[in-house]
Amino acid sequence: MYYPEPISKLIDSFTKLPGIGPKTAVRLAFFVLNMKENDVLDFAKALVNAKRELTHCSVCGHITDQDPCQICSDHTRDDSVICVVQDPKDVIAMEKMREFNGRYHVLHGAISPMDGIGPEDINVPDLIKRLKDDKVEELILATNPNVEGEATAMYISRLVKPSGIRITRIAHGLPMGGDLEYADEVTLSKALEGRREL
Ligand SMILES: [Zn+2]
Repeated sequence: MYYPEPISKLIDSFTKLPGIGPKTAVRLAFFVLNMKENDVLDFAKALVNAKRELTHCSVCGHITDQDPCQICSDHTRDDSVICVVQDPKDVIAMEKMREFNGRYHVLHGAISPMDGIGPEDINVPDLIKRLKDDKVEELILATNPNVEGEATAMYISRLVKPSGIRITRIAHGLPMGGDLEYADEVTLSKALEGRREL
């Protein structure tokens, strides 16, 4: 089917988003054409600003517009516990629960030998550096309950164990194969409460 170039470019851009197939991309592109120009400008600005102004916290790796991030700069939080997650979205899921008052460490991925992703490719070296600080007493491994998440938890556990830091893994009850970010707050809260020693 033939589209004038500006709209075919817009369709291509939408196709790059997750969960957007060609039909939806066409529908969204035509929707944008019918939007008010100001709304389109605001939308475009929001996209660019989100990308330009957000960076990764140099301490924990969470997305932030200030460095260190709000969580790392909050002096009321408990320095003795670090919760290790795969993705910034997991931090947001944990924060929504309002039960965890420790620190976070975002790995930005999980170990996956099948995809050639090793410990050096995710934010593990920075975690090890953080643990040299003797304030940390417990590391909660809250990686996703799937093969990669388990492998990552086991790897970190073996690496950190000799240091004597208590290592726990959030409980199952989270759907196996699922993502932490999709767990509802009650399930997540129970998983945290029922964490077990590794
Ligand atoms: Zn941070």
